[in-house]
Amino acid sequence: MSTLAFEDVRVRYGTHRSGLTAVDGVELTVPSGSVVGLVGESGSGKSTLARAAVGLAPVTGGRVLLDGTDVRRLPRGRRPVQLVFQDPYSSLDPRMTVGESIAEALPRRAFGGRQAFRDRKARHGEVARLLELVGLDAGRSGALPGELSGGQRQRIALARALAARPEVVIADEITSALDVSVQGSVLNLVRELQRELGLTMLFISHNLAVVRYVSDYVAVLYLGRIVEVGPAERLLADPQHPYTRELVEAAPSAHGSLLAAPDSPVADAEPGDPHRPPAGCRFHPRCPVGPLVEEARSICTTVDPATVAASREHRAACHFAAAVGDTDTPVPNSVVRTGFPSARSDTLE
Ligand code: ADP
Ligand code: MG
Repeated sequence: MSTLAFEDVRVRYGTHRSGLTAVDGVELTVPSGSVVGLVGESGSGKSTLARAAVGLAPVTGGRVLLDGTDVRRLPRGRRPVQLVFQDPYSSLDPRMTVGESIAEALPRRAFGGRQAFRDRKARHGEVARLLELVGLDAGRSGALPGELSGGQRQRIALARALAARPEVVIADEITSALDVSVQGSVLNLVRELQRELGLTMLFISHNLAVVRYVSDYVAVLYLGRIVEVGPAERLLADPQHPYTRELVEAAPSAHGSLLAAPDSPVADAEPGDPHRPPAGCRFHPRCPVGPLVEEARSICTTVDPATVAASREHRAACHFAAAVGDTDTPVPNSVVRTGFPSARSDTLE
């Protein structure tokens, strides 16, 4: 068992006025053995959340838990959460052979029944096994990163992450820097490895098509907040949040990009600025079912819609989720339900 849970996680960079809150109250669970895809536009806080889980970004509020234990309290030397970065050119030391890079990440001490690789021979054998696991010839262990293609380097980065025998792998845009032609093979590798090893994964991409391919669940991040989360198929087939809907509608476009379609009411809107997050719903200045189109929906400018009912599988933070895709007959959730405004998905289940 290895469930990763973000509990009301907040990450603030800088201090006072010049600072910004890049991740603001994120609640997200990556269930053991499953892949949660995290999608959101550039600057929404995806990498910050990933970095927070491995101690590379300051958790200024909330907690990141691995099977209920705060990751900050895990024994020193044990690194059960491994992060694979976007750029395979900068994540590997150019002076070390790929075999040395992988060997460096092997555990030297045994933790909780995990094997340690103390002597040279054991390390050599394990490096060969890991290279083969990621689809590379074991004979490549003497190569320098500079001799490898981007796709091969990203395979090495994966092998290096797996060398630490992680319980959770976080992949942050690992195919974004690759040629489209090799993206598919790296994604296939990720899927195979995840199934074979039963990995728990947080798979991050700005590209919904990529996320869709590997994920069991999808979470959508907007300006540091999760606006929708649910089982991948259900969320993609029936997005509840207007932002998710924009993403889903834009995803099959020529570039698979997440830019709003040209005729969308939000296409001209400025992207969100985390230095000055809008009051109320952070998406309201761009929202196609919010006060931009219906003046009466002033609640969106004042009341923050939370992704309440954490026990529900599919939930969205929108006062007017019921109006998404049907702007003629809106059913404000905040009216339908008494108490805190919530999303339609809550009332459906
Ligand atoms: P994403 O990965 O979704 O593109 P990031 O997590 O990289 O988003 O960034 C979220 C916000 O935090 C952005 O506004 C970015 O400029 C800011 N940011 C990221 N890292 C730092 C940092 N080390 N110091 C200050 N601001 C940062
Ligand atoms: Mg990023």
